[in-house]
Amino acid sequence: MADVEYLKSLLTAHPDFPQKGIVFLDIFPILRNPVAFETLVTNFVHHLNSKTVAQSSSKKIDVVVGLDARGFLFGPIIAMRLGAAFVPVRKKGKLPGECVTATYEKEYGTDSFEMQADAIKPGQNVVVIDDLIATGGSAKAAGELVAKCGGKTLEYLFIIELSFLKAAEKLDAPLYSLVQVD
Ligand code: 5GP
Repeated sequence: MADVEYLKSLLTAHPDFPQKGIVFLDIFPILRNPVAFETLVTNFVHHLNSKTVAQSSSKKIDVVVGLDARGFLFGPIIAMRLGAAFVPVRKKGKLPGECVTATYEKEYGTDSFEMQADAIKPGQNVVVIDDLIATGGSAKAAGELVAKCGGKTLEYLFIIELSFLKAAEKLDAPLYSLVQVD
């Protein structure tokens, strides 16, 4: 698809960031360009309105969950276009009130995500959004938080998927990505 090729052409690769041996893929050039940003949001919204997600089962998407931190940059815009709520998943200790917690594996050790316990109501339909999925540890933890609140995750969406890491196998719902890196 031409729009995906256009978005892909704007991604930049940064060797040895944030540490030696890691090639960091940067999405910010897309956000710097209003036409590209609009293209990105439109692609996700069209996909979510398509038969493959909500309409196949006549399900309305009630909540868009965005992951700390780049999921906060475009998740709320997609939520507004869908007429859905936006709910952030944050690193532990950042959210006020009663929270649910899930722990996930990082390269070295573990980390914890939290979501406000009353943010998702039992039975609500949810999609989870972030900029990139690598091992899938953070997305899986977000799915656990949704489930703890009684929500149902319909899909996990990303701009970039490091497909050689096979994160889709870890998730309890389909994975959608614009750009796949083998
Ligand atoms: P995972 O939990 O799937 O192993 O890692 C995904 C998380 O790491 C996401 O929150 C994502 O933002 C971040 N991440 C890891 N590598 C990259 C990268 O190369 N580029 C960007 N933009 N984010 C990355």
